[in-house]
Amino acid sequence: SREPRRILITGGAGFIGSNFVHHWCDRYPDDRVVVLDLLSYAGNRRNLESVEGRENFRFVAGDICDRTLVDALLRSETIDTVAHFAAESHVDRSILGPEAFVRTNVLGTSTLLEAFRQHWKKRGDRGSDRFLHVSTDEVYGSLSPNDPLFSETTPYQPNSPYAASKAGSDHIVRAYHHTYGVPTLITNCSNNYGPYQFPEKLIPLMCINIMLGQPLPVYGDGQHVRDWLYVNDHCQAIDLVLHQGTPGETYNIGGNNQIKNLDLVQMVCQLMDELASDLPVSPSKKLISFVKDRPGHDRRYGIDARKIKAKLGWTPQETIEGGLRSTVEWYLTHRDWWEPLLSKEYKDYYRKIYG
Ligand code: NAD
Repeated sequence: SREPRRILITGGAGFIGSNFVHHWCDRYPDDRVVVLDLLSYAGNRRNLESVEGRENFRFVAGDICDRTLVDALLRSETIDTVAHFAAESHVDRSILGPEAFVRTNVLGTSTLLEAFRQHWKKRGDRGSDRFLHVSTDEVYGSLSPNDPLFSETTPYQPNSPYAASKAGSDHIVRAYHHTYGVPTLITNCSNNYGPYQFPEKLIPLMCINIMLGQPLPVYGDGQHVRDWLYVNDHCQAIDLVLHQGTPGETYNIGGNNQIKNLDLVQMVCQLMDELASDLPVSPSKKLISFVKDRPGHDRRYGIDARKIKAKLGWTPQETIEGGLRSTVEWYLTHRDWWEPLLSKEYKDYYRKIYG
């Protein structure tokens, strides 16, 4: 048996964060779970509906850059574990406006980490305290067709403002372990997909546009490769790293599912044609529309996840076929979730990106 933890989950109203909150509350019902989330355009309190009533759960609307708030929260809740998901997370938005990414991802992470360090020092290390920083494979840059996969020792070469801001935050977290001995952990994961992902991201975007009978924008030649992982497998990996990872270390997480964007979009089209009975345009493949490539678009990502498999025994449970099918089904049956998110702000953003 294990001692209950008191965990602060930042960004818990977002896509991966809310899936992680569900995972944690199911798995560890005796833990105290506190979510801190700014409820930016990507944060949605409805994602947490199923846990809101629990006695052990608390939601706090607030900014990770707010040091006074973070200090008070760590102290009053006697937090011993942080799972840090809060971030600006969308590459296209980072190209339109990089400053918000530096603010939340770099300054926000360093604010949270400094607050945690002071709190941890004051209470004295109890052996099981952890600060886990959730990061991305995009910090490693882009792979050529014959390059080896990204491992934990691949040099950082971030190309987008998003990737650069995440790289900056990773370095700060690493330095806090090296310099102060703070029990930090870093995970660098490949592209996630699954329920509760905001409509702007590739898979939800395709599902929603098919349901609306609208064009499916594919960047450039559609041959960009991403390594897809079902969100529950990511949550399970983070759980393992929190409980069994060695402080100061980094763990790469990926599903070994390298797929070209165009092939993925075609898979989504096929599933939609099979699962939806009343599509406006059928078969939906007719909707594919190539658009001008994203500036600086990385060609290929691919994760070498041998370390987390060997050291912590992690293996993904979901296949891309199975995971994609349940994701498509989820968007088909949760129109009431995504429709309200297609706001004026969202439509303005969409027009700026895809014309
Ligand atoms: P998301 O955009 O869906 O969620 C981010 C959440 O953070 C939102 O709820 C938002 O309201 C909150 N937030 C933003 N700024 C904040 C601030 N200043 N203070 C407090 N909360 C704030 O993102 P996601 O896709 O769930 O990604 C979560 C984390 O995982 C990010 O750190 C991202 O870099 C990382 N990651 C994502 C992927 C992916 O494929 N989505 C892959 C690897 C790593």
